Amino acid sequence: SLSDRLTATFKNLKGKGRLSEADIDGTAREIRRALLDADVAVPVVREFIAKVKARALGAEVSEALNPGQQVVKIVNEELVGILGGETRELRFAKQPPTIIMLAGLQGAGKTTLAGKLAHRLKSQGHTPMLVACDLQRPNAVNQLQVGGQKAGAPVFAPHPGVSSEAETPTGDPVQVARDGVAEAQSKLHDVVIIDTAGRLGVDQELMDQAANIKSAVGAHEVLFVIDAMIGQDAVATAQAFDEGVDFTGVVLSKLDGDARGGAALSVASVTGKPVMYASTGEGLKDFEVFHPDRMARRILDMGDVLSLIEQAEASWDQAEAAKMAQKFADQEDFTLDDFLNQMQQLKKMGSMKKLLGMMPGAQGMREQLEQFDESSIGRIEAMIQSMTQHERLAPKIINGSRRARIARGSGVHVSEVNQLLERFGQAQKMMKKMASGGGVPQMPGGGG
Ligand code: GDP
Ligand code: MG
Repeated sequence: SLSDRLTATFKNLKGKGRLSEADIDGTAREIRRALLDADVAVPVVREFIAKVKARALGAEVSEALNPGQQVVKIVNEELVGILGGETRELRFAKQPPTIIMLAGLQGAGKTTLAGKLAHRLKSQGHTPMLVACDLQRPNAVNQLQVGGQKAGAPVFAPHPGVSSEAETPTGDPVQVARDGVAEAQSKLHDVVIIDTAGRLGVDQELMDQAANIKSAVGAHEVLFVIDAMIGQDAVATAQAFDEGVDFTGVVLSKLDGDARGGAALSVASVTGKPVMYASTGEGLKDFEVFHPDRMARRILDMGDVLSLIEQAEASWDQAEAAKMAQKFADQEDFTLDDFLNQMQQLKKMGSMKKLLGMMPGAQGMREQLEQFDESSIGRIEAMIQSMTQHERLAPKIINGSRRARIARGSGVHVSEVNQLLERFGQAQKMMKKMASGGGVPQMPGGGG
């Protein structure tokens, strides 16, 4: 597996401590192979690897991870980023009904999805109505009606009494869409889901029809449904639908099969549109919100490696937190010089908030940090540097006239000097508390 191969690659890299081009190449080669195995489109793979390499070369060397792990971490972050970062859900129109239109090739899973969406929306308290605009395929209207019935949502169709399964309904899909939305409005449905026709390949006439339906009803969301097994065709298909109907989101269907989901990366990468949902079967409930991080793991097939990376980072963070706690505890007389020193350290640490989150008894420090603004460091420096050595060691003597002098000398307002001294007072109190054992002894490995 990729995990095994990468673990072997990492062994060779151990202890190097610095990212060289050769290190990156080795890991990048494995990643490229994994992406191609997952059926990510070739040009997407090429572009992706180039981006990862460029970022890895410019990356600061991590103290927590070895170079190979660092590259994988970057790969994972980039993957999650392309797949949409955060999960995105449907956006509802301010003025109901919200109109959702489904588009995609025949067999992609649109009609099935319509039922699933209706089911999900109903469980959230919405009152969806389905509109059957696939007048192309025999039985399409009937199929939607069955789905609607299961989901408990009414279906608007060109002629309600479709009886024979073989019957192909006739009519103008654009008009059906308009009528369906009007019907939903009059019956106070707050969401309308429009099912449309698709063909086996991209087809201009059908694309035009979909675009016409979209503009006729002013669809708020156009969901492009794509079969996860489509493989290398994903790019061309997604591009055609992106140009044709300018969809707002992607639904990846048939993820219950063997497909590793490379299509998700291909589509998201060439269109920049978010993947919103995943379909995982034929049943109404086989449907979930799309999770970019989980999909990144599935595509790379390396959950083990990522878990190791997370563990390595967490234990490094803990060790750092322990070191910091020890340093604080060792300081008996906490002066303004120390304060400045700490501020400068905080700035360097970056992930301080996370570190402090792991330190028992560091609540006060955490609060301080919430107010900590990196851009204020320069002003704090200036103020402390405008103080005499005596003032820095014994801030109690800083009275009104001294405050005014310090403010003048550092070019800030007196209120900022007051604020600084107040914050220093809080920090000093906390240092005393920590030094006298108020929490530090509980630190894992902190010694105390
Ligand atoms: P449409 O042509 O885009 O409307 O596609 P359909 O909704 O009719 O689906 C085509 C076929 O794929 C049907 O047999 C569905 O039951 C099946 N299907 C749809 N979604 C899924 C899915 O997520 N997983 C599996 N295994 N089958 C699905
Ligand atoms: Mg259909």
